[in-house]
Amino acid sequence: MEDENLQWMQRAIDLAEEAFKAGEVPVGCIFIYENKELVNGRNMVTETKNATQHAEIVAIERVYAWCEEHDKNAADVFAAITVVVTVEPCIMCMAAIRTLNIPLVIYGCRNDRFGGCGSVMNIATDEIPSLGRRLYCISGLMAEKAISLLKDFYKGENLNAPEEKRKIKNEIKK
Ligand SMILES: [Zn+2]
Repeated sequence: MEDENLQWMQRAIDLAEEAFKAGEVPVGCIFIYENKELVNGRNMVTETKNATQHAEIVAIERVYAWCEEHDKNAADVFAAITVVVTVEPCIMCMAAIRTLNIPLVIYGCRNDRFGGCGSVMNIATDEIPSLGRRLYCISGLMAEKAISLLKDFYKGENLNAPEEKRKIKNEIKK
């Protein structure tokens, strides 16, 4: 089980690296169903120009497409899924995950700014009757790798920041 979790997380890390190369915030995830990868997702916010296209939302949409294709009941499938994601899901994603009755999330590093498994709010276990069953979160798997990807990404962004700010200031002056 432990080894399997590591293999799955490595796969999620690979997807985060793919996001990084595409200029997206490096977060990747896979959804496990019947002990196999059913779908995967990585951040696609920039390329879709859609702020909700986090890795987990992309994967959720792929589950619906898979269910449609294979004539499966989506509610039953979600209730048997394990989410493996490199970074603690944000509040939006955790609300979606809980609404869908997904029972287990395994994540890498914490998300201090947006995290929905306790860092900002605890969507996973708070008493929110309208949001369905509480779920389990296992944290810390390959967290260092997930953090180093995020650090490298934001380091790159910061290098560009002063120029961007100058551009904005100039445009305001005009
Ligand atoms: Zn999210």
